[in-house]
Amino acid sequence: MTKIFEVPLYPYERSRDQDAIAPKRHKVVVVGAGPIGLGLAIDLAQQDVPVVVLDDNDKVSFGSRAICFAKRPLEILDRLGCGERMVEKGVEWELGKVFFDEHEVFEFHLQPEDGHQRPAFINLQQYYFEQYMVERVRELQADGKPIEIRGGNKVVAVGKHKDHAHIEIETPEGPYELEADWLVACDGANSPTRRMLNLDFVGKVFEDNFLIADVIMEADFPTERWFWFDPPFNRGQSALLHKQPDNVWRIDFQIGWDIDRDEELKPENIDKRLRAMLGKEVDYELEWSSIYTFQCRRMETFHQGHVIFAGDAAHQVSPFGARGANSGLQDTDNLGWKLKLILDGKAPDSLLDSYDAERIHGADENILNSTRSTDFITPKSKMSRILRDAVLDLAENHAFARPLVNSGRLSVPAIYDGSPLNTPDALEGGPARTRPGAPCPDAPLGKGFLLPELGGRFTLLTIDADAPDEIEEDGVTATRLALSTKNDPSGGLAARYLGDAASAVYLIRPDQHVAARFPEFNDAQIRFAIRRATGKE
Ligand SMILES: Cc1cc2nc3c(=O)[nH]c(=O)nc-3n(C[C@H](O)[C@H](O)[C@H](O)COP(=O)(O)OP(=O)(O)OC[C@H]3O[C@@H](n4cnc5c(N)ncnc54)[C@H](O)[C@@H]3O)c2cc1C
Repeated sequence: MTKIFEVPLYPYERSRDQDAIAPKRHKVVVVGAGPIGLGLAIDLAQQDVPVVVLDDNDKVSFGSRAICFAKRPLEILDRLGCGERMVEKGVEWELGKVFFDEHEVFEFHLQPEDGHQRPAFINLQQYYFEQYMVERVRELQADGKPIEIRGGNKVVAVGKHKDHAHIEIETPEGPYELEADWLVACDGANSPTRRMLNLDFVGKVFEDNFLIADVIMEADFPTERWFWFDPPFNRGQSALLHKQPDNVWRIDFQIGWDIDRDEELKPENIDKRLRAMLGKEVDYELEWSSIYTFQCRRMETFHQGHVIFAGDAAHQVSPFGARGANSGLQDTDNLGWKLKLILDGKAPDSLLDSYDAERIHGADENILNSTRSTDFITPKSKMSRILRDAVLDLAENHAFARPLVNSGRLSVPAIYDGSPLNTPDALEGGPARTRPGAPCPDAPLGKGFLLPELGGRFTLLTIDADAPDEIEEDGVTATRLALSTKNDPSGGLAARYLGDAASAVYLIRPDQHVAARFPEFNDAQIRFAIRRATGKE
C-alpha cells in the first residue's frame, strides 16, 4: 500500500511568475512547507493575506521526526481549521511514567484539571500532521482564499532590501525570481536562508546519540509516556517509549557519543536492542530507524528587516520535551496577526520587534528546559551521575525528590511577561495564570469552551461587567464576548479568569494572549491597551 509520505502532495507546476519579465512582487512569501511554514501560510490565508509557499520538495516529511503535540498547539490548530482531524487520528495521552533500573520511580499527570476542550498531548506522526495541513490548504484554495504551495521550488539566493526581500528560485524548468514585502524563512534547522544571509546561530551541540526505531507491532503497553533511566535492556543509558496511531511505536534508545553509526543501524543490531527490551518472541516490523544528535541554539534575532525566521530555522532544542514543532507553531501564532495588521497599514513595522521580544523569550525558556533535561539524562561527569542516580533512588519513596527528576519537561506555552505589548495588570486579586502576557487557558462554557469563542481577533472578554459590543481604536476593532458567572456551574471560568475579583474586563489578542485586564470597562484604558498591543504606545 502506498504511504502518504511517498505521494507528491504538492507536485511542481509551472507558475505564471516564471514567465514574468520582471520579478513579481508578493505580499508574503514563506520558504518551507514543513509544519511551521504551512501553519503560518494557513493563518495568513484565513485572514485574506495572499501568501506563496516555496518548497524544494513535493511530499510531506518522513523519518524520525515529531510525534508529540501539546494542548496549546492543538488549540492553535483548531483556529487554523485542522485541530479536530489531528485529535481524531492522534493517540491521546496525559500520563507519564519514569523508571530507574527495573523499578517504576513515579508517574506524572500533564492535565491535572478538567474543563479543557483539548487533551494534554496527542501522539501523531509528523507526516500525518503535515498531510492534514496540506489538505487544509486545498480546502482554503477551494474557498477562494489566496494561498499557493509551489513544490519543486528551491530557494537558492535571498537578498535583503530596505522595503522587501529578493528571492532566486530553481525549478525543474529553470530559474526565476520573486520579490516579497515580507519573506518568512521556515526552512528548517539547516535553514539555507539563514546561511545565505550569513546570520549567526548561537548555542551548543550535545555529545550524545539516540537511536530511533519506529516499529509496527501489536502490543499491550498503555498509551502513556514511559521513560527509563539505566534499564536492564540498555545499561548505563536511557530509553523512551511512545504509542503512535496505526500500531506504530516510537522507541528511542540513548546509545552514547562514541559509536559506529553504520554498525548501530544494521538491522540485526537494532533487532538485538528491540528484543532485549520487548522480549524474544515479539513480532514487529521496522517502519523507520535513524540515529540523531541534537543542538540547543537560536538565532540572535528572528526578525531581520523584511526577512523573518520561524520554527527550526530560528531555534532548535532536543526532542525531549517535544518543544520543536510545538514552539514553532507558537511563533506563527505570534506572527500571523502582526503581519496582517502591518500589511493593512493598521500597525507600524516596528510591531515586529515584539515578535523578537516575545518569541526569543519563548525560545530561551525552551532552550533552558531542554538543556536541563539533557544534562539530567546525560550527566557530564562521574559525580553528576552519582548525584543523578541518588535523586532517582530517592524519588521512588520520597516526594521531595520527584521534582528533581528530569526526563524532559514537556512543552508548555511561554508567558510573555515584560512584553512591550502588555498593559500593566490592573485586576486586583486576578489569577496569576491569566496575567497580561499569558496565553488564555481554556474554560468550560455551558455546552462549549472558551477558546473557540475567542477565535483569532481582538476580543473584549467581560465577566460580570458591562461594556460596548465593539470598540474601534485607530482601525483596530475589539469585539465583546460577554460572559457571566451565573452560567459557570463548574466554577472553571471564575477560577481561571476572576480569582478573588468580583468582575473583569480582559483585552485578548488574536493569538489568545492576554494584553490587559481591568476590574471594569473604562473606555480610555481599553483604547490605550489596544494601542499598546498593536505597537503604537
Ligand atoms: C527525533 C525527533 C523527534 C522530534 N519530536 C518532536 C516532538 O515530539 N514534538 C515536537 O514538537 N517536535 C519534535 N521534533 C522537532 C520537529 O520535528 C521540528 O521542530 C519541526 O519539523 C520543525 O518544523 P519546520 O517547519 O520549522 O522545519 P522542517 O520540518 O525542517 O521543514 C522545513 C521545510 O523547508 C524546506 N526547505 C529547506 N530548504 C529549502 C530551500 N532552499 N528552498 C525551499 N524549501 C526548502 C524543506 O523541504 C522542508 O519542507 C522532533 C525532531 C526530531 C529530530
